[in-house]
Amino acid sequence: MKHKTTSNILVLGGGVAGIAASVKLASAGYRVTLLEKGPRLGGRAYSFYDAAAGEWVDNCQHILMGCCEALKELYRLSGSEDKITWQDTYYFFYPNKGFQTLKSSCLPAPFQLLPSFLKLDALSFWDRINITQLMSSILCQDPEVHPEWATLSIKEWFESQGVSRESMRLFWEPVLVSALNDSIDQLPVSYVFKTIRWGFLGREGAWKMGIPLVSFHHLYHEQTLNYLTKRNSLVRLKEGVKKLVIQNNRIAGVLLSDGSYLEADTVISALPQDKLVPLLDADSCIKKNISHYKLSPIMGIHLWLDRRIMELPNLCLPGNFIQWIFDKTPGEAVSKASSQYLSIVISASQEIMHLPQKEIIDTTLQELKKVFPAAQEACMVHSLIIREPRATFKLMELQDSYRLGPVSGITGLYLAGDWTDTGWPATMESAALSGFAAARQVINREPF
Ligand SMILES: Cc1cc2nc3c(=O)[nH]c(=O)nc-3n(C[C@H](O)[C@H](O)[C@H](O)COP(=O)(O)OP(=O)(O)OC[C@H]3O[C@@H](n4cnc5c(N)ncnc54)[C@H](O)[C@@H]3O)c2cc1C
Repeated sequence: MKHKTTSNILVLGGGVAGIAASVKLASAGYRVTLLEKGPRLGGRAYSFYDAAAGEWVDNCQHILMGCCEALKELYRLSGSEDKITWQDTYYFFYPNKGFQTLKSSCLPAPFQLLPSFLKLDALSFWDRINITQLMSSILCQDPEVHPEWATLSIKEWFESQGVSRESMRLFWEPVLVSALNDSIDQLPVSYVFKTIRWGFLGREGAWKMGIPLVSFHHLYHEQTLNYLTKRNSLVRLKEGVKKLVIQNNRIAGVLLSDGSYLEADTVISALPQDKLVPLLDADSCIKKNISHYKLSPIMGIHLWLDRRIMELPNLCLPGNFIQWIFDKTPGEAVSKASSQYLSIVISASQEIMHLPQKEIIDTTLQELKKVFPAAQEACMVHSLIIREPRATFKLMELQDSYRLGPVSGITGLYLAGDWTDTGWPATMESAALSGFAAARQVINREPF
């Protein structure tokens, strides 16, 4: 075994959680070594260079919301604040009513969206009243004082509240499936309540949709490299960690895939739960909790067209194969060979993951033709389908006690990652929160 020593703090994994932990520590004057197995930073929010498009292409459109305070803080610290555009209007298309919008009014929080809900006339008048009543229930009721809700899915809860099938199909399903990446019969009441409260009913601006203006290559990889290297910290890419070395319940170092060993008394693991498991001893109690996590997929469809067909920045197609479309043309990812680049997202995509590329593209184009007249004449210049089977962890049956961290129970080892105990679903916000929480533990700990 080659032997290397380090006085640094080691951060394992260069996704949003590892980036947040490293940036926070570096901003507080600590010297960090960030070890990432892959060739670039970003983790599940990554880009790849697509020669046919001539651009860096993100695996899938990721959005954040105005209520994502930790992520906004990360962008502020790393100098990327101006790389996010904030959209106040969510567009929906209903075949019987055409385009409809949800946008905030001048009413104070939590009533800012009320006029918009009431105007959503693809839904019956009673469904709209029911949505506003439900919003006030969600605001006023605490699932923690209703233990009988703990095993209910939000679909079952909606049924108990008299929500119609149409309202679920045309409003709740499209909103919740894309926010929480699972079908409504697989979403627990508690996380849906939190999501609605923090986003829809939160303070002014909480509802806004944040869209990166640049690729993840720029937002996460380049910006972080710049930030950390300027602060005397190190980013080591293509450095897979093979084993955490723990002696007398204290972290001693990490064994790397190339056989080398890094000594360290402080390690933040920002690895996904399933990638942390093989690095731990068989009897580790961390491992037992992690075994409860199950995963849910997302599919990203990227289309480059020879003309513009969509003049909206975003569009939701409730009840369709396509769930959300984003116009990526104005950003960095615009293809020189085409006139419009659309990024399409299908969340909780387990049932279509196996479909052949041609079938997915044909279905997508057929749906676009039904919505946009210009799509009838448009030619596809290029397309890509990115299937992400491990996109997020499932929330149903995931007890809060399974979510560990940031303190691991092993001296000097801290846990971060979207799966840790942040209270958030698997999102970039959860990852950023977890990274900051682990960094704070290191900053505030007693010397040992
Ligand atoms: C298709 C898709 C769409 C999504 N959409 C959204 C969205 O719209 N909004 C949102 O907020 N979130 C979204 N998410 C979820 C979001 O991407 C994740 O929650 C977040 O990026 C997780 O960050 P993380 O740092 O916790 O983990 P990861 O991003 O998984 O980072 C972990 C890192 O550890 C590295 N690693 C693994 N093993 C080792 C090892 N042995 N040694 C060293 N390094 C290792 C990995 O290479 C990776 O870089 C989406 C995810 C996907 C896949």
